Amino acid sequence: MQELTDPRAMRAWSRATRRAGARVAFVPTMGALHEGHLRLLDRARECADRVVVSIFVNPLQFGPQEDFASYPRDLGRDRALADRRGADALFAPGPDAMYPVEPLVRLAPGPMAEAFEGAVRPGHFAGVLTVVAKLFHAVEPDVAVFGRKDFQQAMLVRRMVADLDFPLEVDVAPTVRELDGLALSSRNAYLKGDERRSALALSRALRAVEQAWRAGQADPAALVGRGLEALRVPGVSPDYLALVDDQLRPVARADAATVVITAARLGRTRLLDNAVLGEGVARDPVAGAP
Ligand code: AMP
Repeated sequence: MQELTDPRAMRAWSRATRRAGARVAFVPTMGALHEGHLRLLDRARECADRVVVSIFVNPLQFGPQEDFASYPRDLGRDRALADRRGADALFAPGPDAMYPVEPLVRLAPGPMAEAFEGAVRPGHFAGVLTVVAKLFHAVEPDVAVFGRKDFQQAMLVRRMVADLDFPLEVDVAPTVRELDGLALSSRNAYLKGDERRSALALSRALRAVEQAWRAGQADPAALVGRGLEALRVPGVSPDYLALVDDQLRPVARADAATVVITAARLGRTRLLDNAVLGEGVARDPVAGAP
């Protein structure tokens, strides 16, 4: 596995690789790699000849009160995991390589970024899309793979690529879960004591909505009520639970393509989860299973 820290060196590697006729797939991450990230690498491998993974904790997407300083970082461990999972290149730039000066010009993600995560984390998606655009310029991939776990982010990246004519495909992979249903997340490491058990409220809420929908309920308000009921667990403070389409718009009636999105706080930890009604949490891949 090649390791690159400079965006120009990354671009040179990628251009040489593509000139030689290979298709390049790219998996951007903030590190603290877990099986969810590693499945994205597997997926990248399926759609390309060479796989690039990046590790960069992007200061631009964290609010002043958020966990930028304490975000888990372990490049040695991540390097070994990415190498073992067959990545061809690891792009791990330092903050100065990505931002030699603080960028004045940033992407404006528009109304899709205003609700949900965007409402709770002002400026978050401007930071995300700005770094993703910069990473795309460094890697120039044929395809980039994102996780559905961060649904609003994945849909915004899709729109950015379409609206701004980035010459690449965006692939969105299903959420990898623990056996008990908890979506894998680097932030799960923050959960203390009872919080790990309480965190199951999120996937349970998604299941409750899905079950009610399968039983014939299609009214969004009634379905949201079912979900919020399941989120009523001591120690869990829901930020939102909503039924949306792939443009993050509220739906008038729930159908198989409707996505239930939710976020909640447990102590100082914020967790996100979502499920497509027609697919359901139970069908998501489980960490550890082949
Ligand atoms: P992060 O390092 O948290 O920024 O995530 C990097 C990429 O991995 C994003 O595209 C995430 O959506 C994706 N990801 C994170 N957790 C999971 C998961 N449990 N299953 C699938 N993809 C995930």
